[in-house]
Amino acid sequence: MVKPLSQLKLLFLISILFIGTFTGCVEEEQKKGLEKQLTTEIELDQPFILPDWKDGEYHDYYGTMQTLNELNEKYPNLVYVHSIGESVLGKDIWCIRITNEGNDVIKSSCIIDGCIHGNEWEGGEACLYLAEYLLINFGNNATISHILNTTEVYIVPLLNPDGRQNDKRWNENGIDLNRNFDVDFGRLRGRCLRIGKLFGRIKIPYINFPRRGFYTNCGRRPFSEPETKAVSDLIKRIDHQDFSFYLSCHTAAHNIISPWGVFKPPFEMTQQEKSLFDHVMSWVDENTEYEPGGEFIWRGKKVYMSGTAVDWCFQEFRIPCFTFEILSTDYEPWLGKGKHDHLVHWMKTTLPVFMYFLVNIDNLRQWKAPDIQPTLPEGIPPPPLH
Ligand SMILES: [Zn+2]
Repeated sequence: MVKPLSQLKLLFLISILFIGTFTGCVEEEQKKGLEKQLTTEIELDQPFILPDWKDGEYHDYYGTMQTLNELNEKYPNLVYVHSIGESVLGKDIWCIRITNEGNDVIKSSCIIDGCIHGNEWEGGEACLYLAEYLLINFGNNATISHILNTTEVYIVPLLNPDGRQNDKRWNENGIDLNRNFDVDFGRLRGRCLRIGKLFGRIKIPYINFPRRGFYTNCGRRPFSEPETKAVSDLIKRIDHQDFSFYLSCHTAAHNIISPWGVFKPPFEMTQQEKSLFDHVMSWVDENTEYEPGGEFIWRGKKVYMSGTAVDWCFQEFRIPCFTFEILSTDYEPWLGKGKHDHLVHWMKTTLPVFMYFLVNIDNLRQWKAPDIQPTLPEGIPPPPLH
């Protein structure tokens, strides 16, 4: 017969054993959790991968569309491709939004576009290159994963699809789209002529006056062109989602330009705004091969530009806006020497600029000093060509 005391002892022993086993399980689980966390961190610390691009393989309108569709299929949870409007000839203007759609938090947003001047191909190429760079590195690299977890990156590679197909600066109506925005619109001092399309038929993209130089056709009124209407609608639509910066990609002045380009600025910028623009310019000067864009002087006179996308966006939304001029002036199409070469090199030169803007997105939105240094892949930026 078992005494009651012995029964208690037995119960006690069983309890000890059970607690011991249970505690062991908890420890084991904790250990496993830690291991998993470490593995995730290690996975996220993978070095950056660069897009596998080849020199000479440019993306025209149809190539761009194909690439966007491929990215959409490959990364359904990160990519949303949609048309923001149509060009004069009815081509869709495609936008790719890149973000971790599974991360349901309030995110910052930004817009990067290219090829508003159709013959400035590398502006559009840089947009595609950035899109691919972000997507192939998400989930492997901590910097990129953080960006896509917290930011919606809107990219419009070809703002002027007809111009890209015809290799022309202007759109199908002969209008310089980057003079068609509603900011100090159509001024002679801004080197613009409000001609539009004569009798609805005759295109006059520009007039070259002896001694005075080129004046471009900005259209009869602001946003007369479907392409500028489409991108301004996109910018207005995302305004409420913590819109943080706008970057318009061009070629080939080899610099970064901040507002104002207009002859008569709609308002005086604040000291805080000025110092942020200065900060960005110094950073570009010290960390990339690009120059900070200053005043553009021609025959001893300052050249103004009315109606640009960047000035309009700054006027309307008071966020940091920049024109990014990729390539060196050797490639300048406006001077008749335009050519397309060394695609991969030029794409690599854009990454430090894009990444600087993306890692500083919160600072930019709040007009604080953008002083976070982006982590970059090995070999970026590449040594200059010449
Ligand atoms: Zn341009």
